[in-house]
Amino acid sequence: MAFEGLADRLQSTIKKMTGKGKVSEQDVKVMAREVRLALLEADVNFKVVKEFVNNIRTRAVGAEVMESLTPGQQVIKIVKEELTALMGGEQSKIAVADRPPTVIMMVGLQGAGKTTTTGKLANLLRKKHNRKPLLVAADVYRPAAVDQLKTVGKQLNIPVFEKGTDANPVEIANEAIQYAKEEHLDYVIIDTAGRLHIDTDLMDELYQIKQNLSPDEIFLVVDSMTGQDAVNVAENFNEQLDITGVILTKLDGDTRGGAALSIKSVTNKPIKFIGMGEKLDQLEDFHPDRMASRILGMGDVLSLIEKAEATIDEKKAKELEDKMRSASFDFDDFLEQMEQVRSMGPLDELLSLLPGANKMKGLKNVQLDDKQLVHVEAIIKSMTKQERKDPSLMNPSRKKRIAQGSGRPIAEVNRLIKQFNEMRKMMKQMSGMTGGKKGKRRKG
Ligand code: GDP
Repeated sequence: MAFEGLADRLQSTIKKMTGKGKVSEQDVKVMAREVRLALLEADVNFKVVKEFVNNIRTRAVGAEVMESLTPGQQVIKIVKEELTALMGGEQSKIAVADRPPTVIMMVGLQGAGKTTTTGKLANLLRKKHNRKPLLVAADVYRPAAVDQLKTVGKQLNIPVFEKGTDANPVEIANEAIQYAKEEHLDYVIIDTAGRLHIDTDLMDELYQIKQNLSPDEIFLVVDSMTGQDAVNVAENFNEQLDITGVILTKLDGDTRGGAALSIKSVTNKPIKFIGMGEKLDQLEDFHPDRMASRILGMGDVLSLIEKAEATIDEKKAKELEDKMRSASFDFDDFLEQMEQVRSMGPLDELLSLLPGANKMKGLKNVQLDDKQLVHVEAIIKSMTKQERKDPSLMNPSRKKRIAQGSGRPIAEVNRLIKQFNEMRKMMKQMSGMTGGKKGKRRKG
């Protein structure tokens, strides 16, 4: 999971501060040292660490006691604000050209995830911003690169402009822009050539494209798992091309997070998007404040809500809510709800967005692989229609039959039914509480 190591260390450092009614200089000193170590261990650029820790120290020592916060809480607030600032402060939005199409040039080294991200970005622009993108295959050195982009385009049903590998990239890009105008497509995303290492030929070619097209954005795609190498690559590309933003890929597998925390500070260019998986819908806007929250274990409820809004059918959600309120929620609804949650992404990723989730010790040991859901699904599907509608029908012989049918131990069947009944009871109580006049509170 992203930032896991750093999150653990920072959270335990900060936990020591939480309850403090007074924060002494010595406390701040100890905390600053721990934060420094945590950041260095996360592979954050050492200059960045130094400045960061200095800022925190100065602010924490001079912190005035605020009415609403204990001094300990105030120190945490300072750390959060500084982390947010370190990652760029405000979210940096994507450009929109005055006259369409908006032209985006994608650059980066081979293997960073450039071609995949080009597709992901087009997908995100279409889905979230209602745009009509065009993908452009301008890596003319590798036929495989052109084919790869075509495959991505096909998967997404987004047009790809290509002229094989015989044409010159500037020509291809210019024709693509012309084509976009004719077809009323409003974003042109150009997948340029990548190399294994930075070399002058590559930079010359990219510079030529830039000079000829004056793109609205030049996004550098870097692999966050390469840590400080990614930062060096970013510095280099930025010097030569004056990029407009960075897209960090593979953050899903980056437990350290050093690149994410150093890039803005070193290059002064914002991180615009983050890649959170191989699938073409796993690109997210980068919000520094939400990321800081996540790192400090405060969760990222806003992102969770956005994910839910993007995947969950509103009408169905309303129906489920009504059922919960009237306590007629049955196993079929349970199954449906489970499928909806599953479509939002892997469970451990969703859990990481909840405040305090990684502080719950029990959760760490629970294997949250989606296999468990498959088991639950198998058990429910082995129930008869009546049993699903009316769980009170369950008796030992029915349970035995269900266990056999699903191939799961009877204890697991028992546990599921028990949990389900508890959940229903809770729903009843909750609907009583929110049900106004008919609610239980009136009786009490
Ligand atoms: P390119 O050479 O820079 O065009 O890289 P590709 O687009 O071919 O990607 C290289 C590999 O990285 C592929 O296997 C991608 O599926 C994978 N990849 C790209 N972005 C992500 C990401 O955000 N997370 C993960 N886990 N894998 C990614």
